[in-house]
Amino acid sequence: MNVQDIKKICVIGAGNMGHQISLCAALAGYQVVCTDISQAMLNKAAEFARTYLPGRVAKGKLTQEQADQALANLSFTPSLEEAASEADFVIEAAVEKLDVKRKLFADLDRIAPSHAILATNSSFIVSSKIAGVTSRPDKVCNMHFFNPALVMKLVEVVQGPHTSEETARVTMDLCEKLGKTGVLLKKEIYGFLVNRILAAINNEALFLADMGIASPEEIDIAVVNALGHPLGPFRLMDLTGIDLAYYISMERYQESQDPRDKPSPLVVEKFVKKEWGQKTKKGFYTYE
Ligand code: NAD
Repeated sequence: MNVQDIKKICVIGAGNMGHQISLCAALAGYQVVCTDISQAMLNKAAEFARTYLPGRVAKGKLTQEQADQALANLSFTPSLEEAASEADFVIEAAVEKLDVKRKLFADLDRIAPSHAILATNSSFIVSSKIAGVTSRPDKVCNMHFFNPALVMKLVEVVQGPHTSEETARVTMDLCEKLGKTGVLLKKEIYGFLVNRILAAINNEALFLADMGIASPEEIDIAVVNALGHPLGPFRLMDLTGIDLAYYISMERYQESQDPRDKPSPLVVEKFVKKEWGQKTKKGFYTYE
């Protein structure tokens, strides 16, 4: 298969990631069917498209014709059968639970045409934990978008030991068609590239704060002003959720049993106090 053979894309999950990946593909000219078990999420995703597109037209970023075409390219259904039965490429962006993804891929293998590539947008689950439930492991890979998917340019494509060269190439080519910059990982690794690099920065920042070398505010100022990051690591953790930082460290520690992977004392303290960042109005910073 070549990227030119892809006409129809199925996106599974209409949540944070799925609704924007769907719209991104519809804007790139693909016929997109987005499916979710929650009708409320599907309605919300459809409503988002109906308000986002006119907003882009008003800002001069899209023509009316492009917006109309994107809306016409996009449809929503709670039926997995309907969504995947004619798909050439499937992007799974359902909830981050291995058992849910394995069940979905087994169903997809039965429903989707035999030539279809099945990609998962999972942030941490490598596709070798999923591919075995299908009869086409060579056509299974990770295709990891970043949040918000309409804005963020990078997509990490991860080639597992089961993934064919063709699947990796077609998926990378699809990134380009979607207006994204793809990077190819030739081996699977927990956290891929970006989340690993981010974790290394976060760990060092937390270590420095735990040691009392500098306050979170001062560390953020250093990172923003010297490294040119738009947000320092503590502001960023407040944004993404300190609870999430805690869970990710715990999961990694449980897998590695390496004490260095345990959540830092500062993260544990914030987690226990339920000071989880912006969502609780207090984290490393206080929010009005
Ligand atoms: P989310 O909770 O916002 O959305 C998940 C959606 O999946 C929900 O609408 C839910 O109803 C739906 N769902 C659950 N089970 C389903 C099933 N069996 N069939 C169809 N739909 C089902 O989650 P999200 O943040 O959009 O994350 C989705 C995936 O994307 C995860 O694998 C996550 O790791 C990955 N991801 C998330 C981010 C992020 O910043 N949120 C970034 C990159 C990748």
